Amino acid sequence: MSHIGEEIRKIHGLLPDGVELVAVSKFHPAEAIMEAYDAGQRLFGESRVQELLAKLPLLPADIRWHFIGHLQTNKVKQVIGRVALIESVDTEKLLLHIDKESRKAGITTGVLMQVHVAMEETKFGFFREEILDFFRDRRFETLTNTHIYGIMGMASNTDDEARVASDFGEIASIFREIKELCPDLRGFDTLSMGMSGDWPLAVEKGSTLVRVGTAIFGQRQY
Ligand SMILES: *Cc1c(COP(=O)(O)O)cnc(C)c1O
Repeated sequence: MSHIGEEIRKIHGLLPDGVELVAVSKFHPAEAIMEAYDAGQRLFGESRVQELLAKLPLLPADIRWHFIGHLQTNKVKQVIGRVALIESVDTEKLLLHIDKESRKAGITTGVLMQVHVAMEETKFGFFREEILDFFRDRRFETLTNTHIYGIMGMASNTDDEARVASDFGEIASIFREIKELCPDLRGFDTLSMGMSGDWPLAVEKGSTLVRVGTAIFGQRQY
């Protein structure tokens, strides 16, 4: 007997009002997702396009999906229109491509811009100055079919709680600074940070969206 439903209810009980839970179901089968669904969860996160597309037809249509993984431009077409939000826009090229494909499809795609603050060199995302320049120059004004709802970031993968706290503080400060640079940005109010090991700390630092996988579904079988 799995504890998936129990974990979902536990996290919902702990999250303050205004903070949403993305249940990260990557590498877990549709049956596991259904257990979370039956406990009331409707928002799920996937990080690989093929896996997302394989799961979609197996699951209820009222599930909202967030794409949270690195997205290649050649796969954009397969993702837009199928997910409520792409949380992981990590280059301007990808952003413009999403906009172009959304225009062609006659839809508007919601996105978050991924920022990079962690010490790992392999992590994707905009550096602080890059993303601030983007908003300072108001380059989002060229977008016709993409709405930027906020930013997403990850803390360093370390047991050093002070480092994790300072990473979340940094992501939150980038978020505030963008709002100050562009006070007229509408609907820019999502700060996605926090995973299984660190979401309570992320919430303390102002997260409005936590992405939790392992703590709900158990270890992933890669
Ligand atoms: C896998 C993943 C998560 C969830 O990680 P857990 O440690 O299993 O909670 C969150 N965010 C992103 C971007 C991920 O790729």
